[in-house]
Amino acid sequence: MATYRLYANCDFCEEGHPFPFAVSLEIEYTNKRSVGDIYMGNKLPGDIVSIMRNRIQCSESGKFFVQDDKNQVYLVPTG
Ligand SMILES: [Zn+2]
Repeated sequence: MATYRLYANCDFCEEGHPFPFAVSLEIEYTNKRSVGDIYMGNKLPGDIVSIMRNRIQCSESGKFFVQDDKNQVYLVPTG
């Protein structure tokens, strides 16, 4: 098991912003990769689906957005 933080590409400033949740997954790798890339052709884990339903606040514009495109959401290993 490894722990990852999810980041979403922002609709407003085009930077990546972190979701305020981490997720533990069976997969292990060391680079930032998109959820769509990792789970290509497979069902997304429920934990990731749940996290992606949350709104994220853009730290640049202060606006909230939902990023439901799995190719615009990234997993970044923590620690
Ligand atoms: Zn932003």
